[in-house]
Amino acid sequence: MAAKILDGIKIANHIRSEVAAEVASMALAGVRPGLAVVLVGHNPASEIYVRGKVKACQEVGLYSEEHTPPETATTADLLALIEDLNRRDDIDGILVQLPLPAQVDAKKILMAVDPAKDVDGFHPVNVGFLSTQRPGLVPCTPAGVIEILKRSNIPIAGQEAVVVGRSDIVGKPAAMLLLNANATVTVCHSKTHDLPVVCRRADILVAAIGRAGMITRDFVKPGATVIDVGMNKVTDPVEFARLFAGNAKREETFRAKGSTLVGDLHPEVAEIAGAITPVPGGVGPLTIAMLMFNTVKAAKIRRDRRVPELAHP
Ligand code: NAP
Repeated sequence: MAAKILDGIKIANHIRSEVAAEVASMALAGVRPGLAVVLVGHNPASEIYVRGKVKACQEVGLYSEEHTPPETATTADLLALIEDLNRRDDIDGILVQLPLPAQVDAKKILMAVDPAKDVDGFHPVNVGFLSTQRPGLVPCTPAGVIEILKRSNIPIAGQEAVVVGRSDIVGKPAAMLLLNANATVTVCHSKTHDLPVVCRRADILVAAIGRAGMITRDFVKPGATVIDVGMNKVTDPVEFARLFAGNAKREETFRAKGSTLVGDLHPEVAEIAGAITPVPGGVGPLTIAMLMFNTVKAAKIRRDRRVPELAHP
């Protein structure tokens, strides 16, 4: 039987409306949470992401502002900007869009963000909070993975979870969140032996690799839930044919645009998994929704020390 498709757009819209309701109730108390996005230089992909984030903020009623230092900005220039945003009471969240230009010490910049305003959850203080199960700001994409599972009523406690990828921004925090939710977690990476065998143990398989269609049916236990974090642009016609030969809709897009967005899952996984997230329309929309949630959470923690939780209907 074909896998159930977990609709990330629908789940993200639910979260956005919950956040909008929270923002409206905070407005009655005269509070408007604010997000500052820092975008250095002119990276076209980053510009698209930032535009999406700012638009999403406006839609849920958050205040947002964009800072666009030039490509030539130095570490000192950016530190001064971050310090200013840290001090401002009307800014609850600070997001520094990565990647930063080569001359900038990215680690130093991320470390300078006040952990209480670190809506990306990348600061070591928030990483520590997550691993010790204290309230803090959790990275948006992994938090979105958990929301998809919970809101789709997929059990996590006691399940075997395998995360492929160990980056600081996706793989490791996703593994930590699954562990905190009482899954038995294995983290895999490029040096893992017998990857398909390890992955086939998973009731929940999270692919956060960045390799188009790498996870084929051989990696998947029948009936497993497979979450596809990967976002890969395929432009090579041979690669495209390996993944989508015979898929008329994809072929049309590929012909028109010369590329298509693909996850880490091979489409054949849908024939064996119990549930999968699509790309596009799976984890991606959750990332922005969780950024909105984190901005409101940061505002609440900073202003009245309440830690909001999301509902899981
Ligand atoms: P990353 O920093 O490049 O990490 C990739 C991970 O995959 C690494 O841990 C790497 O192992 C592992 N890996 C690479 N090749 C492998 C192989 N052949 N076998 C097993 N493991 C392998 O990437 P990332 O930032 O975590 O992002 C991962 C993917 O998620 C990318 O496609 C990215 O675009 C996407 N993403 C999506 C969203 C979203 O909103 N949907 C957000 C963030 C990222 P090593 O550690 O051994 O090198």
